Amino acid sequence: MAYAYDPDNIFAKILRGEIPNDTVLETEHSLAFRDIRPQAPTHVLVIPKGSYVSFDHFARDATEAEILDYMRTIGEVCRMEGVEEDGFRLISNAGGHGVQEVPHLHVHILAGRPLGRMLQPA
Ligand code: AMP
Repeated sequence: MAYAYDPDNIFAKILRGEIPNDTVLETEHSLAFRDIRPQAPTHVLVIPKGSYVSFDHFARDATEAEILDYMRTIGEVCRMEGVEEDGFRLISNAGGHGVQEVPHLHVHILAGRPLGRMLQPA
């Protein structure tokens, strides 16, 4: 499958410095910043700097250095935010059924209160 990456998506603009963001952590290959519409007391987005649409795109095409950096950054942000003890949730929406709003891979780190069941009944 060919993944079509839209370079005008809002996270690409953040990475180019065209739109401000509330950075939590920046590494060689990843950027973590606060979600503009937080849905929990802690709501941080972690994105790779590379042009990947979704988790499956990243898992297939990213370099080992990018994947290692991304995974370590997600864990590091959890520790920085102090959520590893009480718990947290990682979500990565993809595509239409996943209701992905921004077509650049991101993991949501949600924490700071009991988050309820993972999905509401359809
Ligand atoms: P998703 O539905 O998984 O694609 O979620 C995209 C997320 O990006 C939403 O939670 C938005 O609130 C968030 N978002 C959109 N624009 C920005 C922005 N400029 N800065 C930070 N978060 C944003």
